[in-house]
Amino acid sequence: MSVPRDSRNPVGAAPILIPMEDARMIRSAPSSPHPTPTPDNPARRRLLGGSILGLASLALACSRSGPAAGQAMATAARPAKAPVKVTVVEFRNDATRVGALQVPKVVHSDAEWQRLLTPRSYQVTRREGTESPFSGEYNGLHDVRGVFRCICCGTALFDARTKFDSGTGWPSFWQPIAAENIQAVDDHMFGMLRTETRCKRCDAHLGHVFDDGPKPTGLRYCMNSVALKYFPA
Ligand SMILES: [Zn+2]
Repeated sequence: MSVPRDSRNPVGAAPILIPMEDARMIRSAPSSPHPTPTPDNPARRRLLGGSILGLASLALACSRSGPAAGQAMATAARPAKAPVKVTVVEFRNDATRVGALQVPKVVHSDAEWQRLLTPRSYQVTRREGTESPFSGEYNGLHDVRGVFRCICCGTALFDARTKFDSGTGWPSFWQPIAAENIQAVDDHMFGMLRTETRCKRCDAHLGHVFDDGPKPTGLRYCMNSVALKYFPA
């Protein structure tokens, strides 16, 4: 059975960075019955708040369609780049489908991602790393309701009802919550062809998908806990 490569990175809690619309949705959701096991929740909340504000500012900056008129005339050689937009499907934390939305891609420099993410989440999502098996906080989390979102941008990725115990040591799902929210990329690393999965909105590396999963799809989305954030229904 094929399983993702090992990693030197143990798993740990990580901040979640939520874009504005997701932040509104999440704030209106009930509080989590699964408190983060780290002792620094106040700091995490401060970081979360800061991240939301930071992303909100960046989102506003990205949504400007072009430079001011005067500036446009003066700098015709440097036309403003329109933000790349993608279509993703939004979901509430009870996995209710809100609808498809066209949204700007979440883009940061490497230095910004390092500042916004924990080292473990950065290594996995932005450097295509893999957490150690049986180390992730979500590996053993089963029989729950809710949604697993991208740790980097808050996009809904998996309905908790599709999670199953694969025995591999990584959180596993038999289908994404919406095909539109995940992209599949050929991965030729280590001389074998695997299918990497990334977040559609921010290109975060999430894990790989294999064809040895359970019914009804026969697929196994083998994910990294540090690439995800669980929101209970
Ligand atoms: Zn993302």
